[in-house]
Amino acid sequence: MNRPSADAGDMRWGWICPLCKTDASVTRDLDSETFRWECDDDHCEAIGFGFSSRRRARLALREYRERYENIYR
Ligand SMILES: [Zn+2]
Repeated sequence: MNRPSADAGDMRWGWICPLCKTDASVTRDLDSETFRWECDDDHCEAIGFGFSSRRRARLALREYRERYENIYR
């Protein structure tokens, strides 16, 4: 399979809010030195925090979305 942009695409899919599909931002919490993801939509309360790396935050975001989709399928 020829997927030259697989990595770039891989970085993208993880950053979408599981609830409203808006972009989600991953930021570093300087106080606790952990990472958090947070929905960019002010009206959406989706958030996750306490991750030791950006990668873990991204994986957690994906798991959150998969759980959500399973519940409402
Ligand atoms: Zn959202």
